Amino acid sequence: MQYRTNIKNGDKVSALAFGCMRFGKDDAATERQILTAIEGGVNYFDTAYVYPRSEERLGRILANNKRRNAVLLADKLPPYLVKKNGDADKILATQLQRLQAEHIDYYLIHMLAGSTEWERLRALALPEWLARQKEKGVLRNIGFSFHGGLPEFLPLLQATDWDFCMLQYNYYDENQQAGRAGVEAAAAQGLPLMIMEPLRGGKLATGLPPPAKAVWDHAFPRRSPAEWALRWVWQHEEVLTVLSGMNSEEMVRENARVAADALPGSLSPEELALFTEARRLIAAGTKVPCTGCNYCMPCPYAVDIPLCFSTYNDLALQNRFLTLFAYIFRAQSHQASLCRRCGQCLKHCPQRIDIPERLKEVAREMEKFPYKPARALIRRFMRLR
Ligand code: SF4
Ligand code: SF4
Repeated sequence: MQYRTNIKNGDKVSALAFGCMRFGKDDAATERQILTAIEGGVNYFDTAYVYPRSEERLGRILANNKRRNAVLLADKLPPYLVKKNGDADKILATQLQRLQAEHIDYYLIHMLAGSTEWERLRALALPEWLARQKEKGVLRNIGFSFHGGLPEFLPLLQATDWDFCMLQYNYYDENQQAGRAGVEAAAAQGLPLMIMEPLRGGKLATGLPPPAKAVWDHAFPRRSPAEWALRWVWQHEEVLTVLSGMNSEEMVRENARVAADALPGSLSPEELALFTEARRLIAAGTKVPCTGCNYCMPCPYAVDIPLCFSTYNDLALQNRFLTLFAYIFRAQSHQASLCRRCGQCLKHCPQRIDIPERLKEVAREMEKFPYKPARALIRRFMRLR
């Protein structure tokens, strides 16, 4: 296994981390996968309060096999369930009990939406609460996970003295969400970076459009699309560890094998060119040829143009229901229908996309019923304006 050093605290973290969101139904199989991962050198396990039965199963397996001290545990606080003083205490107590642990090594605010949500949490004195838990040694490192766009990410980086953060990052999303610019901004701030969705929910492994798959079928050396995609993420020296939601022992062994020698800078310029080609072909199979470069931003009417287009493109690549949910959640107050067709963005787009026209299409497709009531419900639940 390859280990990377957390420059903030000296932890040696395995380059491959076990993402515990999608454990299979079979407890015995899950136990074998976790033990195989530990034997293979994986020492970072990431769960969350809202992953069904994940904390409890992970805690029980580690305790029964006396492996708690062999691993670093990461867990997440759902901010939308923190509505008043005392809520975070209750959630943390439940997490520690489920995990059968006395402390959590890496603790994240789960899918922190942006500055508005952070301000709400600040009003509830959550930063002070987190600092107290850290002082007591119950939480060792405090960070956040993030799925929004770069304009929301950059202010969050400055919001408090974080110990680390977690982003979605893969070769297709190099310029989507916070993207490469977000990775570089976090690294410039000295923040260790955990990466989620290296395979974009498995789509870069098994859901590629045929022309993009052919790039990897003809590449040398022969590697699966998943291996190429993982190697691309590990290529980045800014990355501390990469989460993979593994659900077979074979997958655990295969990913551990790849992680062993996927060092920063290990891909050649010729190999990196293959990713550019694969990305182009995936984009060709998508609805709007937006590269997520952000040149069109900011929009004076607050439309998050790249986010609208990337989520719209996901409709072709990902589960429709989850994509629509992600749009409601991520677009927040930056949805396509806010476009007033002022045309200011047009002159900045290197892809010459007719942005207002295509946003109209996005709004037509993504914001039809039940968009409005679903959005109102989610925002009420999250206590956003
Ligand atoms: S045309 Fe629409 S998206 Fe472009 S800047 Fe104007 S309001 Fe924003
Ligand atoms: S400038 Fe064009 S390609 Fe770049 S993010 Fe905006 S719409 Fe996409």
